[in-house]
Amino acid sequence: MTNTSPQRVAIVTGGARGIGAAITTALAKSGVHVAAGYSSNAAAAEELAGKLGAEGCSVSVHQGNVGVPEDCERVVQEVLDSHGRVDILVNNAGITVDKTMRRMSVEDWHAVLRINLSGAFYMSKSVLEQMIANKFGRIVNISSVVGQMGNIGQVNYAASKSGLFGFTQSLARETANKGITVNCVAPGYIETEMVAAVPEAAMEKILARIPVGRLGQAHEIARAVQFLVDDDAGFITGSVISVNGGMDM
Ligand code: NDP
Repeated sequence: MTNTSPQRVAIVTGGARGIGAAITTALAKSGVHVAAGYSSNAAAAEELAGKLGAEGCSVSVHQGNVGVPEDCERVVQEVLDSHGRVDILVNNAGITVDKTMRRMSVEDWHAVLRINLSGAFYMSKSVLEQMIANKFGRIVNISSVVGQMGNIGQVNYAASKSGLFGFTQSLARETANKGITVNCVAPGYIETEMVAAVPEAAMEKILARIPVGRLGQAHEIARAVQFLVDDDAGFITGSVISVNGGMDM
């Protein structure tokens, strides 16, 4: 069968480092143009775009803070101006500010909710109208096993990641008859800089709770995202794919 679809255009927030870089790489290598977002690490973004460009992939980089609605609108407009459409949005950018509830400040709470949850709202809102007009869209929100199970020291992070489940299901219902799917991927503990910050003693306890007996790799998350954003995945919406080594079964 001949593939008659146009070249798909994706935005991956936080798409130049960690899990996001793996998602950018997987989608770009499958022929999608990827607009990789970053907030402050321009060097990592330029390096990834240069490397993938040298391999024949189509990647652009865009600076913006997903916690600022105007930045989200501007980044989406940049991609629309250069590529005419956004077919795929991966809301991957995320942060942690870990403290027990007793020590957590109101600002610690809002900082994490603003980027991890409101960021997904701002970005999705910025791409939605043109996805509806194109009768095609794939939105994937990167949640976490912590949003499914909770975790000590992460009431803000867990709330933001659980919030993505309700956000996903509600937006999926609103857009199901418009050619748009909205799904979550919920990673377990993946070997990235975010997890490298976990102290060694805590890491031993984490590994003991993962039936597969190891940390996940970023490319294993990218594979699940790639599956959900495929043109053929139009019957999967409002779902969560857990990629966590069996941690939450
Ligand atoms: P990293 O810390 O390695 O990378 C985070 C990315 O998010 C960076 O590219 C960063 O951009 C970007 N980012 C951070 N803040 C903002 C912001 N305000 N605006 C725009 N971009 C921003 O994280 P991971 O790769 O580990 O995590 C990626 C996602 O996966 C997150 O949502 C995380 O919660 C989730 N996750 C991760 C797990 C893990 O084990 N690593 C487990 C479960 C979920 P810049 O490069 O400019 O700093």
